[in-house]
Amino acid sequence: MKQIKYGVLLLLLFWVAYLQADISLVLTPNGTKKTLPVVKLEGKDYVSLDEINTHLCSIYKVEYSEYTDFRVMFFFSGEQFIFLLNSPFYTFKQNIFNMQYPFLQVGSYYYVPSTFLLENLPLHFTGQIQNKNGTLYLPKPKDKSVRRVVIDPGHGGKDPGAIGPNGTRESTINLNVALRLKHLLEQELGLEVLMTRTDDRFVSLQDRTKFANDNKADLFISIHTNASHTNGSQGIETYYLSTKSTTESRAVEALENSVVELYEGAGAKQKYEALDFILMDMLQTEHLEHSNNLATLVQHNLVAGIQTKNRGVKQANFYVLRGAFMPAILIEMGFISNPEEEVLLANPQYQDRLAQSIFEGIKRFKYNYDRIRLTS
Ligand SMILES: [Zn+2]
Repeated sequence: MKQIKYGVLLLLLFWVAYLQADISLVLTPNGTKKTLPVVKLEGKDYVSLDEINTHLCSIYKVEYSEYTDFRVMFFFSGEQFIFLLNSPFYTFKQNIFNMQYPFLQVGSYYYVPSTFLLENLPLHFTGQIQNKNGTLYLPKPKDKSVRRVVIDPGHGGKDPGAIGPNGTRESTINLNVALRLKHLLEQELGLEVLMTRTDDRFVSLQDRTKFANDNKADLFISIHTNASHTNGSQGIETYYLSTKSTTESRAVEALENSVVELYEGAGAKQKYEALDFILMDMLQTEHLEHSNNLATLVQHNLVAGIQTKNRGVKQANFYVLRGAFMPAILIEMGFISNPEEEVLLANPQYQDRLAQSIFEGIKRFKYNYDRIRLTS
């Protein structure tokens, strides 16, 4: 009995020691408790920037050039800090501050001394952040960064989309690239990725957008391949919504919207043309600037990664983009109607490259967008 008591006491001691090592956070006003793990580096207490990002919705960006020291820009609670590698000094609002111990890198991780959080932050955010006996009280962060992405592989089920001269189905290519992109976004950026379909099934255009809205997605990425009567057409183009189409984009718009008449039954077209849907366009209107930026970055990275004809960023009135309450784009990854591009599109390595290039565009967008949103 005595031994058990002694064991429990020992366990309790370890537990207390463990608690003391980490930094306790209390988010005001609702009092949510969190813990930032502390690690010992060079005999001092440190916290990784990634842990701070996870718990406090901050972001950081590593910058190095031959003209400057190795710097890390850290965006926290609407402000920017600049850390210098191996230096205890950092800048904040054009002033230089000292956090006692140097900013460190171990492998691909970056660490600030605990003193930065416990002593410096309360000074920078007087009245907002307080250190009460080693527990940090700070306002609950507003997470406005890109965290959840909906990928929409076009067509599926009874609607195969465009079919190539050798019988390749657009719906299959779209899904294959979408699944690869999902994997990259999850593995490389830790994003939550939801798919409007993960197998060969039919989903109406309206349900695809509704799915993204219902799940409060931060981005909507619709993936398609193009088709043209002239089988020499080639290249990649990326779209975002417009209610006024240019003549050039009208053919692609008609192609992608034709799903409605072909597969969603009688009266479906009238439904999409109805007033409430036109009002729904206003939801996307609010995000058009970001949709344009996202389309531009994805298109740029696709053309660079694939080395194909750049057909540019375009606007069209795609039903699937209407009513999306988030930045939303539709990618036409090449012409399945062109026998040469059809062969490429069906090739798994080529699909990897497409997914990788789209991923690079989204990654770049996320960095810009998160920074704007976190500092505004
Ligand atoms: Zn399509």
